[in-house]
Amino acid sequence: MPPMEYEQDIADLGWYFASLSFILGAIVGSFLNVCIYRVPAKRSIVKPGSHCYQCGSHVAWYDNVPIVSYLVLRGHCRHCGAGFSSRYMWIELLTAILFLVFYLKFGLIWALPFHLIVVSLLIFGTFTDIDHYIIADSVTLGGLVFALGAAAFLGFRGVVGQEWLLAQELYLQTDPFLSPARALPPHWQAFAWSVASAGLGWGLLWGVALLGRLLFRKEAMGGGDIKLFAFLGAYLGALNCLWVLFLSAMVGSVLGISLLIAHRLVGREETEIIELRPEPPTGNSPSDDTEITTTSAEQTEFSPKQDQAVPSALTLKVVRNTAQQLHHFPYGPYIALAALVVLFFHQEINRHTREYLLLPLQPEAVSHISHIVPPLSSTPTILRGE
Ligand SMILES: [Zn+2]
Repeated sequence: MPPMEYEQDIADLGWYFASLSFILGAIVGSFLNVCIYRVPAKRSIVKPGSHCYQCGSHVAWYDNVPIVSYLVLRGHCRHCGAGFSSRYMWIELLTAILFLVFYLKFGLIWALPFHLIVVSLLIFGTFTDIDHYIIADSVTLGGLVFALGAAAFLGFRGVVGQEWLLAQELYLQTDPFLSPARALPPHWQAFAWSVASAGLGWGLLWGVALLGRLLFRKEAMGGGDIKLFAFLGAYLGALNCLWVLFLSAMVGSVLGISLLIAHRLVGREETEIIELRPEPPTGNSPSDDTEITTTSAEQTEFSPKQDQAVPSALTLKVVRNTAQQLHHFPYGPYIALAALVVLFFHQEINRHTREYLLLPLQPEAVSHISHIVPPLSSTPTILRGE
């Protein structure tokens, strides 16, 4: 078979895997929707299956196809016509697109499935934080355990393992205190740096939170944010954590200032009637969808059986303005967004850190070290024997 055909085969396979990653992302996004609504309410994510929150009817598999079903049914229940929040579809689409771009960027490498799990956890944490100011322990502590396992499994192929190599180039190569760590096998080195980075990430945010409390006398960071940084430290490494903190503060202030300006220009108070149902479709989030316009009469009529003892709906009148919303906007989503960016560009960040921070400082030292530590892109097995 001529080589041209091989190339064609590989190109076809690329398209196949690209579509597969998009579809997988949409399915995972659909599952994340379930988690986002049920985990903060401490309900099972398996039972019951998908059902309409209005009429309680079971959603058949052909009406439960991610993205497609929402578009086909135009966001309404097939049986009673109740509107579903379009956010379900947007989260499915977001996850699908992120899975696709991560596949296109990294290709089929060992680290890819691990990256995709981190992406999923970040989406999950973002939306529970927006809805309920909660980042579930399954994201933060679960993510921490997962990240430590990933570091041990991936070794120098993982993000934290790559950063460990960079850290050695930057500083640790000359540190006699840490040289015993370099005698360990690669997987243990990556694991050790992952553990250390988790502690550093945790300590970093704990310090920022303490500083915020002293300076502004208000709780800027929640415990969830601090635990989230322990997870990010373990997966991305301590140096990358600094980037996440820096980027999240940037995004936070840019977004904050523009919202504040927008409020000054077109600010208005919004009055909204919020119905508190036994099972609210979108929680009491600041981003409540306005599509849910069911009247109390309908609510009583279609109320699911198990709620008979409870009043079917309570009505709250909420007056809010954009400045207040901003004041209460959680910090977790900024961290998650920054972490996504750093994860996506970690190779470029490493390369630039190496070029701008290391080379101008000590050209001789670098040329000396580069004999010992191979470039980050190659498989660095030479270190093993040192
Ligand atoms: Zn229905």
